[in-house]
Amino acid sequence: MKGISNWIDQRSIITPSRLALIDVQRKITYLEMSSMVNRYAGVLQSTYSIKKGDRVGILSMNSIDFIILLFSLAKLNAVVVPLNIRLTEDELEYQLKDSGLQTLIVDHDNYEKGKELLTRTNFLLLTFKTINIAHPEPLTPIEIDSSAPYIICYTSGTTGRPKGAVLTQENMFWNAINNTLSLDITSKDKVITLLPLFHIGGIGLFTLPVLLAGGTVIVPERFNPEQALEYIEKYKITIIMGVPTIHDTLRKSPTFEKTNLTSVRFFYNGGAPCPEELIHWYIQKGISFGQGYGLTETSPTVFLLSEEDFHHKAGSIGKPVMFTEIRIVDEDAKDVSPGQYGELLVKGPNVMKEYYKLPDETAKAIQNGWFATGDIVRQDKEGFVYIVGRKKEMIISGGENIYPLEIEKVIYEISDVVEAAVIGVPHNKWGETPIAFIVLKEETTLTDEKLKELCTKKLASYKVPSLFKIVSALPKNATGKIDKPTLKKYYVEEAVN
Ligand code: ATP
Repeated sequence: MKGISNWIDQRSIITPSRLALIDVQRKITYLEMSSMVNRYAGVLQSTYSIKKGDRVGILSMNSIDFIILLFSLAKLNAVVVPLNIRLTEDELEYQLKDSGLQTLIVDHDNYEKGKELLTRTNFLLLTFKTINIAHPEPLTPIEIDSSAPYIICYTSGTTGRPKGAVLTQENMFWNAINNTLSLDITSKDKVITLLPLFHIGGIGLFTLPVLLAGGTVIVPERFNPEQALEYIEKYKITIIMGVPTIHDTLRKSPTFEKTNLTSVRFFYNGGAPCPEELIHWYIQKGISFGQGYGLTETSPTVFLLSEEDFHHKAGSIGKPVMFTEIRIVDEDAKDVSPGQYGELLVKGPNVMKEYYKLPDETAKAIQNGWFATGDIVRQDKEGFVYIVGRKKEMIISGGENIYPLEIEKVIYEISDVVEAAVIGVPHNKWGETPIAFIVLKEETTLTDEKLKELCTKKLASYKVPSLFKIVSALPKNATGKIDKPTLKKYYVEEAVN
């Protein structure tokens, strides 16, 4: 069966005494995990009448219970709606109403938020504690349809209003198979989940694959660099997955240099463009550092760079995973030649079913089974792929196409630059022009003129930002990505005033 509902039961038969999950208070074997999965499912089914197709939200920090609930709800063929704890009540209300949520399960810290949401829309509010698994009712097994919706995961909303990507158990199954095969994940692996579990990267990239392989998942509540480094040493962690900010924060931690990293197979980046300086910093320290690429809509993984290529292809997102096909096409949907820019299309059993209740958006995004990612990439002659930028962020200046990412890459090479974001803004003569927002190290002597001069040496003149705005911080959206719509709004408001 190509779902995920029976994995943990099977693991509890094959490897009952191996450690499955570790958090700050508990260590759970596969046997114990299977028992908890079934007890949660039994109570949710009999006491709270949760059944096939019901939408159940989880609003919680990372925890063992969160992971267990993912499997319990799979056993009920219910639909999980992972909710971002950093969203405002207004943003959450939108996702609750949009998904038609019937039940919301919260952890202790999000209980008040849950109560506030209850004043805005109707649902059953439960906490991990109120689901009393100490006195469970037996679970009445149901027939699982693995092609039915399993997760409605809202996209980050980097390029507009978040859309609910509907993922099935089959999608998650194939994503786990793809990742396990591409990165040789085995029962010896121990991954630390530093990404939030409400983000598809937190669930799909390593948590599910490592559990499929019979390895161990270490689940800190939230990302704390010192605690993460302590766990890496203490539990002999092999895989550390994160977005660029996480890898950057870890290396800057005062305890990084003192941490014993000999157990680590690799650090891995995904979810956002990774400055090459960051990758090379790790590599120069003799630490393996790889990179992959994915989207919410593809459960999430599309590309992974294999361990043997980390060094000589640093900066590439690698090659497509095992059971996923890709095409790179021009504006007329014709395949481009190696080296040329084109939009990435993806086909495979990990591609979402649809956008929830958005048939027009779905039809636009998926044509003949090919999902259009909106990302522009190029492939080298050996088949390794590199991200060029996002189609929606492309700037057309005097008829020339400019991708902010290529400018950002040049800016990141300048020492003393901490963060950079380039956006296009209207221009009387050229139609649009790039401008850059930059965060510099505190002790720097760099100025906007100097930044312009350094960029002029490496970029064609039309790509050199017409404004270098030095700021103390960049706005981030709830998944930690730089919030470009807010930067645009800020620029417009500044220009008007
Ligand atoms: P929305 O679709 O709502 O605008 P979003 O695209 O940010 O939000 P996610 O699914 O969280 O939603 O992110 C997927 C995007 O992240 C990809 O389309 C790509 O632009 C970017 N991305 C993922 N991995 C990488 C990577 N390794 N390098 C560069 N960009 C990446």
